[in-house]
Amino acid sequence: MSKEPRRDGGAVEGCVFCQIAAGRIPSIRIYEDPEFIAFMDIASQAEGHFLIVPRAHYEVLADLPDGLLAKVLPLAKKLSGAAMTGLGVEGFNLLQNNGEVAGQAVPHWHMHVIPRRGKDEFPFHPGAPADLTQLPFVAENIRLNVNS
Ligand code: AMP
Ligand code: ZN
Repeated sequence: MSKEPRRDGGAVEGCVFCQIAAGRIPSIRIYEDPEFIAFMDIASQAEGHFLIVPRAHYEVLADLPDGLLAKVLPLAKKLSGAAMTGLGVEGFNLLQNNGEVAGQAVPHWHMHVIPRRGKDEFPFHPGAPADLTQLPFVAENIRLNVNS
């Protein structure tokens, strides 16, 4: 029987980011406050790649309380600004994977901050032109499910 994911923010045994937050697994930290930590990614996509992680364990975006979520972008703004100044880069990607199918390997919500340089090879390219006969129907499937 599959175990239901924990949704109350409590620590999860065996979760690598819960253990980093508790100081039981080492990390190279760049920031911490009572609710968040930020530390260097051990398999970086680019020099200076780091992660912003709430100390509380929530798996995907939908689980994260709005109050906590409201603090994520101001923190990303602050820390990415520090990275741009400190590393001398002019741009970065914020990346956030939700679910295994989207490439989420660690099921404890986190945001990647990935500094970008002129000739790096981070694979983010413009997509192919959309099929304009289909796009309105795809949009409608989303629009009809927007809750307030
Ligand atoms: P994601 O695919 O969005 O779940 O990304 C998980 C990220 O966590 C990957 O980029 C990993 O390199 C990174 N990661 C996993 N374990 C550690 C760790 N112990 N310390 C730092 N970064 C980690
Ligand atoms: Zn966790």
